[in-house]
Amino acid sequence: MLKVTLDLRCNVCGGERFMIPTPNDQEQDVRCADCHAFKCCSDALEETMASARRRLPHQDQWGYLAS
Ligand SMILES: [Zn+2]
Repeated sequence: MLKVTLDLRCNVCGGERFMIPTPNDQEQDVRCADCHAFKCCSDALEETMASARRRLPHQDQWGYLAS
């Protein structure tokens, strides 16, 4: 799993950090890194992550890879 900070808010604790599954992980759910609440399926976040990666060099509102 990758711990990432995204421009998204956990709807339980309001946290911005999420655990993102890698292709090798059995579990493919995206969960809040703080309270472990189920956030959404990884497919739904795929485009967000792609956007985040494209924006990484700028360290802007999409946040950064924390791990
Ligand atoms: Zn949370």
